[in-house]
Amino acid sequence: MIDLRSDTVTRPTAAMRRAMAAAEVGDDVYGEDPTVRLLEETAAARLERPAALFVPTGTMGNQIAVHLQTIRGSEVIIEARGHIFNFELGAMAALSGALPRPVPTEDGFLDPAQVEAAVHPQASYVTPTRLLCLENTHNLWSGLPMGSAHTRTLLDVARRHGLRVHLDGARIFNAAAATGESPAELARGCDTVMFCLSKALAAPVGSMLVGETDLIAEARRVRKMLGGGMRQVGVLAAAGLVALRDMVPRLAEDHDRAQRLAVGLATLPAVELDPTRVRSNILVFRLRPELVPGPADVPAAERFVGGLRTHGVLCGAFSATEVRMVTHYEIGDAEVTAALAAARAVLA
Ligand SMILES: *Cc1c(COP(=O)(O)O)cnc(C)c1O
Repeated sequence: MIDLRSDTVTRPTAAMRRAMAAAEVGDDVYGEDPTVRLLEETAAARLERPAALFVPTGTMGNQIAVHLQTIRGSEVIIEARGHIFNFELGAMAALSGALPRPVPTEDGFLDPAQVEAAVHPQASYVTPTRLLCLENTHNLWSGLPMGSAHTRTLLDVARRHGLRVHLDGARIFNAAAATGESPAELARGCDTVMFCLSKALAAPVGSMLVGETDLIAEARRVRKMLGGGMRQVGVLAAAGLVALRDMVPRLAEDHDRAQRLAVGLATLPAVELDPTRVRSNILVFRLRPELVPGPADVPAAERFVGGLRTHGVLCGAFSATEVRMVTHYEIGDAEVTAALAAARAVLA
């Protein structure tokens, strides 16, 4: 199977498995796992921040950040297609009593005037706004990367209103590869940053939450409260260290293959896709339903996804007409060629 559903499907590399088997470990709840400590120091250094915390999932990292930077009954400004709003099971409300203030955009980029308009004035009778959440790359906007110049304009508004800023940088290394800026530059000025080791970086488990020392100490407490205090977890941290060393430098390859896939798909009349909007490893595109063969009572995206599956290609339907494909290290040139041939066959 050619699995384009997500970069989360990547399996740990042989080098990761060797590092995991050889990892020095200790009880990390006691702060005694040397491999976890090394990973946390390495992650903090990569983002040029003082501290980092290893968390089991990106969702937990994001939600710890929300929890620490909101109060119950306060609002969180977020782009309307953002992961923290749409794919984290309402956690900000369920776990922290926070309310999302989703802001729809035309192209995935919040603009400073929109953020300004979404902030409530400070008064005793209005819901307080506490946090701005950003996402880089932006998953549902076809893996859209955001340069640091744009981020800075949003940080300026946030600062002016005393808001905290959290960056959901699940794919910040993809954003770095796409923009040519370092992850540290892309994250500069944000109070907290989460990034995933488990997506295109291919570690089996794990994400990092990065920020100031005091905040990360608090994050350690909240992680334990949520049931995320892990013991001899150096076996996983070891894979994370290999992910940072081996997988970060190769991400541009995934972007090139996503571009090739986009250019090929865009030639098909049933596909509505502008390849210039594919800037990293994610393609989100629309189908023209009348041009997708199959039963009319099945949504076009499902007809297409089902058809591809019979050709050995997996991808995901995002809505009745939207499909997502993601490239990663297990997708080589031959897989891109085969996926394009399958799409042509399904849509013939
Ligand atoms: C995958 C993802 C997350 C959450 O990561 P999990 O480890 O699956 O919980 C958060 N934000 C974005 C943008 C993601 O793509």
